[in-house]
Amino acid sequence: PPDVEVLGRSTWTLLHSIAATYPPTPTPKEQSDIKSFMRLFSKLYPCWVCAEDFQAYMQKREVKAGSRDEFGNWLCEAHNEVNRKLGKPTFDCRKWEERWRTGWKD
Ligand code: FAD
Repeated sequence: PPDVEVLGRSTWTLLHSIAATYPPTPTPKEQSDIKSFMRLFSKLYPCWVCAEDFQAYMQKREVKAGSRDEFGNWLCEAHNEVNRKLGKPTFDCRKWEERWRTGWKD
C-alpha cells in the first residue's frame, strides 16, 4: 500500500472536500448515504491499524450528518483525534469551512 502519510494527506483532502460539498440541508437519503460511505470507508481504508482505530472512534462518536456544518465538524473532530494520537497540533474546528470550502481569507 502507498506511504501512510501520503495516503493520509490525500484521504483527508478527499474527506474534507466531501464535507465541503455536503448539502446544508441534506435529505434523509443523503444522510444515510454519507453514513454508509463513512462506515465502508472505515472498513476499507488501506492502512489497517489506522482503520481499526478509526472504526473504534466511530463506535464511540457516531457520524453526525444532519447538515454540512454537523458533518464538517464531526469530521474535523475525528481528524483531531488522529492528530492527538500522532502528537500533531489539533486544528481549530471553527475554521474547517474556511480551510476546506471557502478558502483562507488572507
Ligand atoms: P494531515 O493530518 O494529513 O492533514 C492535512 C491538512 O488538513 C493539514 O495540513 C491541515 O491544513 C488540515 N487539518 C489538520 N487537522 C484538521 C482537522 N482536524 N480538520 C480539518 N482540517 C485539518 N497515520 C498514522 O501514522 N497512524 C494512524 O493511525 C493514522 N490514522 C489515520 C486515520 C484516517 C482516517 C486518516 C484519513 C489518516 C490517518 N493517518 C494515520 C494519517 C495521518 O492522519 C496524516 O494524514 C499523516 O500523518 C500526514 O499528516 P500531515 O501532517 O501531512 O497532515
